[in-house]
Amino acid sequence: MTRKEYLLSQKKRGIHLMGVFPAQYPREILWALNVLPAEIWDPPLQATTASAHLQSYICSIVQSGLELILQGKTDFLDAFLFPHTCDSIQNMASVIFDYIGAQKPCYFFYHPKAPYGAAAREFYRQQLGDLADSLSKQFGPLDPIVLKEKVEQGQHIAHLIEELYQMRARGALGLSNVNFYDLIRRGEYLFPDDWAPELEKQAKQQEEAENFRVPILLSGVLPNPVDLLQLLDDLRVLVAHDDLLNGSRRLIVPGNDFKDPFEQLTESYFSMPPCSTRGSSVARRRDYLFKLIETSGARGVIFNIVKFCEPEWFDIPNLQESLKERGIPSLVLDTELNQGFSGQMATRVEAFIETLDRS
Ligand code: SF4
Repeated sequence: MTRKEYLLSQKKRGIHLMGVFPAQYPREILWALNVLPAEIWDPPLQATTASAHLQSYICSIVQSGLELILQGKTDFLDAFLFPHTCDSIQNMASVIFDYIGAQKPCYFFYHPKAPYGAAAREFYRQQLGDLADSLSKQFGPLDPIVLKEKVEQGQHIAHLIEELYQMRARGALGLSNVNFYDLIRRGEYLFPDDWAPELEKQAKQQEEAENFRVPILLSGVLPNPVDLLQLLDDLRVLVAHDDLLNGSRRLIVPGNDFKDPFEQLTESYFSMPPCSTRGSSVARRRDYLFKLIETSGARGVIFNIVKFCEPEWFDIPNLQESLKERGIPSLVLDTELNQGFSGQMATRVEAFIETLDRS
């Protein structure tokens, strides 16, 4: 079943559908309200009309997300949620809400940015409450017992994903790069009741990873399943871990059994790994990269960065410098969604992998 078919089948069951833009948001609150988040990261379409509404230096994630709306391909959704991920998302939210007129309810979620001051937790807790209150006006009251169940389910899923990442780092997960990220990314639109069994089934299958040549770490915003991951599979390169915005950077550390689900969600937010879109310092990001490299045995890092992604590009020179000081090779790819992977880029990846072979 395709993503669209799945979403429409849920709608037929009376589930509400929410288009959610990147990257971090409290999905458990949506689940508890019988709202299915359909995350909008990389719709497969060329931005044609969207460019008339945006500056030319806006990233292709925002361009294609806006294009999706302008082409009427989100008409079956019931609402939109815009987390305050970066200026570009904020800009798009304003274009859609204030100028074009989305003709659907729009919700906004402001999470605090690092360095976190004394009031950050209280602020985040307040944002959760405000979001829940405003959503309840459209989707009905939020049952605290159901929310607690969904928070526990979110924690269970976080455990499973962490387990899968660990298996992958040990070479004990027999999934290609393409199939692994397909499984992880199914959480961008599946209800947890449908996603968790798939993760559980995979976590039980201890199989050796196919005879791979070299493990690497993938950093950046999102994996590009059609091109880069396929190329890495063809080259028998294992993505042993990642530091991707829509990958491990959204992984919460399952916590204690807090009685208040809002407290648990707050704890989860502050447990996530450092991220450029949450204002983390380069030092924290560098230490996180080193930790992932150490635990996964990655021999090099590929930064797959979306063109014009300001938050990421600010950090890249310093991160590359730190890796170089430790003797860890890295490669930076400047990619655009739906523009294909040029032969030149493929050649650079192949040459990089060859240097890792020799290192
Ligand atoms: S790619 Fe970067 S600039 Fe674009 S939406 Fe994501 S975080 Fe924002």
